[in-house]
Amino acid sequence: MITVALLSRPGLMDPMKAVLARELPGVTVASWPEPAAREADIAVCWKPEAGALASMPKLKLIHAIAAGVDNILSDPTVPDLPLCRIVDPDITSAMTEFVLWSTLYFHRDFDRVVSNSRDGVWQRYEQRAARDRKVGILGLGELGAAAASRLVELGFTVSAWSRSPKTIAGVRAYHGADALDAFLSETEILVSLLPLTASTIGLLNAERLSRLPKGAALVLCSRGEHLVADDLVALLRSGHLRGAVLDVFEQEPLPADHPLWREPGVLVTPHMAAIASWETIALQVAENARRLLRGEPLLNVVDRARGY
Ligand code: NAP
Repeated sequence: MITVALLSRPGLMDPMKAVLARELPGVTVASWPEPAAREADIAVCWKPEAGALASMPKLKLIHAIAAGVDNILSDPTVPDLPLCRIVDPDITSAMTEFVLWSTLYFHRDFDRVVSNSRDGVWQRYEQRAARDRKVGILGLGELGAAAASRLVELGFTVSAWSRSPKTIAGVRAYHGADALDAFLSETEILVSLLPLTASTIGLLNAERLSRLPKGAALVLCSRGEHLVADDLVALLRSGHLRGAVLDVFEQEPLPADHPLWREPGVLVTPHMAAIASWETIALQVAENARRLLRGEPLLNVVDRARGY
């Protein structure tokens, strides 16, 4: 039978153990760096220790516990084995909810009225129809495509940017680096749902963010490393940008004394946009383990060359 190793900070993945034991009779589940983990066939990872995967001689499959695999591929010694990620309808729905909420937060001026309500200020703002609000989604994959379609259903004017050409009903689709400025220049609420790769790290810097029209807002649901936070703060303080909902950060948890918590116009959320349950993750790992044993195609395999 097979051995599954869990590589993460101690105890994080313990809730998966019972599900894996139930789904894969006879499986050995060991936490890194227990000796049995070093002999594993499958490694299930969140931020594995650098070099750990390369030191596992029997390894056949690396499995992420998230939609993004940047936390694994950041280790240059990761062996060239199949790498799978989590794709789940509940994650997609949760992310769509978060994007809708963030869009409405700016579109319906909740950012302003929540602040006003604390100060006893009765102020109404001019209302705009959804069709007059331009929402732009960076990334049209599992999550970006679902959020874009739902925004279209609500009547927003939606555009999106991806690496390769895409067609989604009602969405103005841009692709490729050359089209990024044109996409940004017509986006009032920018939602990032890109994977973190060598091509997307630091993408949201002063140069790119200043292409957004004056008064635009940012919703960052992808990875903290996509954003140059100091550049965002400068554009907020200059009045070019209106606000930002930030769900992800270079350092997580964001330290309590980090200035972003108190930056006017910034709302910090604790990487909560879409969280898969341990049951869901373990069931997907178990399904891929069975496929591996039977020699069948694996689900949700990452393209290592693209990095996502
Ligand atoms: P996905 O299915 O792999 O889609 C990625 C999209 O980004 C694709 O449309 C891809 O273009 C596009 N893209 C990648 N590199 C690009 C580049 N250099 N230029 C332009 N477009 C590029 O990913 P997903 O499942 O939607 O997840 C997206 C990300 O969301 C994850 O990687 C993760 O970081 C983040 N996430 C965050 C949370 C949270 O709670 N905050 C939860 C889940 C996921 P093509 O279509 O042309 O390939």
